[in-house]
Amino acid sequence: MKVHVLQIPPDGKHYEGEELNSILELDDPRTVPVSPISYSLDVGVNEDGLWAHGPIGVDLDCECVRCLSRFVLPIRVDDFACHVELEGRELVDLTEYIREDILLALPAHPHCDWDGETDCKASFTTDHSAVETLDDIRDVWKDLDNLKL
Ligand SMILES: [Zn+2]
Repeated sequence: MKVHVLQIPPDGKHYEGEELNSILELDDPRTVPVSPISYSLDVGVNEDGLWAHGPIGVDLDCECVRCLSRFVLPIRVDDFACHVELEGRELVDLTEYIREDILLALPAHPHCDWDGETDCKASFTTDHSAVETLDDIRDVWKDLDNLKL
């Protein structure tokens, strides 16, 4: 996302749009961006430089660390903010700042039940196999009883 400094009026300007998710340079099959990066930024210039503030976000196709199922995780940074010293420049690229904040918001261990509604299959499977194990033990005892007879 490039901003032309001279196009920003004294009271700031609002930028809204999308950026290609390839700027994230994510090379991990467990976290694959499936939407463009959206931004809605208030941008202004003062004597110190250029500042930008607002929400950014991207949707990721993730793999649950527990059940290995795929799910879409919306990454939202509601209060993205950056400040760039102009150093005489008329064009400022905010891409790297947006990239960094998205990467910081990525979960290290994504869980498919992040929304509080999805039931992670791993927790279900664990309960289920525990019941099966008990049944197995009973079957074994039954077999042993039969042997005695
Ligand atoms: Zn899961």
